[in-house]
Amino acid sequence: MSCKLIQRLLRQSRGKVESLPAFGWHHLQVCEDCAAYAEDIEFAHLLRKLPVLPPSPGFTDNALKEAWQAKESEAVGNRRSRRYKLLVLIAWMMFTTVVALYSLLSDF
Ligand SMILES: [Zn+2]
Repeated sequence: MSCKLIQRLLRQSRGKVESLPAFGWHHLQVCEDCAAYAEDIEFAHLLRKLPVLPPSPGFTDNALKEAWQAKESEAVGNRRSRRYKLLVLIAWMMFTTVVALYSLLSDF
């Protein structure tokens, strides 16, 4: 018996093993792959039957607010990062200036 045929029948029966013909039942007894496939199909159909709860009141507004806050804090983080790089550059320039002045003055 072809595994492809059994798996197609399982998909058509939406995972209901009891609706398979007798040869399908027999195949599931001897083929681990198809038995596992039948379990997967059945599980997927059970998941689809679970009720989908509506969002809580204010969910959309809260989600948008949190997304906006996350974006703003990210922008602040980028500004701080640029400010830090500028401070390091200024410190480096001041250091090299002091070293240059010191070496100039020490010559006199
Ligand atoms: Zn099989």
